[in-house]
Amino acid sequence: MLVVQKFGGTSVGDLDRIQNVANIVKKYADEGNQVVVVVSAMAGETNKLLDFANHFTKTPPQREVDLLVSSGERVTSALLSIALQAMGKDAIALTGRQAGIKTTSDHTKARIMDIDPSKMKKHLDEGKIVIIAGFQGINENGDVTTLGRGGSDLTAVAIAGALNADKCEIYTDVDGIYTTDPRIEPKAKKIDMISYDEMLELASLGAKVMQSRSVELAKKLNVDIEVKSSFKPEIKGTLITKETPDMEKVLVSGIALDKNQARVSIFGVEDRPGISAEIFGKLADKNINVDMIVQNVGKDNKANLTFTVPQTELELTKEVLKEYENKSESIEYDDSIAKVSVVGVGMKSHSGVAATAFKTLADENINILMISTSEIKISMVIDEKYGELAVRALHKAYQLDK
Ligand code: ASP
Ligand code: MG
Repeated sequence: MLVVQKFGGTSVGDLDRIQNVANIVKKYADEGNQVVVVVSAMAGETNKLLDFANHFTKTPPQREVDLLVSSGERVTSALLSIALQAMGKDAIALTGRQAGIKTTSDHTKARIMDIDPSKMKKHLDEGKIVIIAGFQGINENGDVTTLGRGGSDLTAVAIAGALNADKCEIYTDVDGIYTTDPRIEPKAKKIDMISYDEMLELASLGAKVMQSRSVELAKKLNVDIEVKSSFKPEIKGTLITKETPDMEKVLVSGIALDKNQARVSIFGVEDRPGISAEIFGKLADKNINVDMIVQNVGKDNKANLTFTVPQTELELTKEVLKEYENKSESIEYDDSIAKVSVVGVGMKSHSGVAATAFKTLADENINILMISTSEIKISMVIDEKYGELAVRALHKAYQLDK
């Protein structure tokens, strides 16, 4: 078997933990598998390096920032290789460039364009464990680029795709994906198997175990991912894979809570063709990430528009909408909201899932401010202070604790 194993920042957070990773990798290699390891920087290291850069100026040159932060992953890759060789295993550490990872030129948020796996293959064929510094590649000028925060996941998935690996294991500090955040609902259960789309919904909705872009890439390349804990490697994790008819038997896979959204309502804006295009066009120009949008039927040539934006983008949104203060009756902003989402591919083939969600919140006396649905998701915006209560009630209603 050829397996790609990725270890996140907490899993390589200090020298003892790197030794622990070396033990996991060695065991796998000793069982006769070919192993490619992708590592993150030690926990906190990337932030520390970014702080260093910002010490001198608020706008450090992005090329040098990339060279700087890519070093965090190089440190852990070299240390892991040293640890493995000290245990008598043949290993080699490679930077992104040495691993053949070519990216676009956009420093700090580059995209992988191509991977030349020949060098990795050569080392594997020679019986070596190949260790790769995650999160980085080079652009056409030969400059080091990085792939955006959490980008080591992307490196691992892309390499698994390029090498046609049998599987890609993502080792982290939790032992899998849960039906909801166990800190909110201690009865949350580990999910054995989940589809890429469900994972994407749960990830973007706050279950921050894997970088969303890497799940999208895994879906595109059809790479099976197992999320598991480096502290309990013997325990089976969660398999993220292609949707199967079997998955639809489960009504709901998980409940997500997002408290980082804010609601914007524009009341009594002129109801004419092009008004939404105009407003959302201006928000898009500023890269504001608009999520749920509700517009009701206009009356007296006036319409009401409500939507959500990330809380961090609320101030910018207010600036953009300033000109509409005179072009509408009023604009309301509310950042004490929460978005609760029920996710599951089973919704495609079962009815009544939405009705259950609404009834569950009604029984708890929780008022629903906004609703949006997709094929596999129902999202509801509610008052922030009821977020956790809603999650627990929905978790129980869909019997996810069973
Ligand atoms: N070290 C980088 C970060 O913190 C990449 C990663 O850990 O995946 O974003
Ligand atoms: Mg991560």
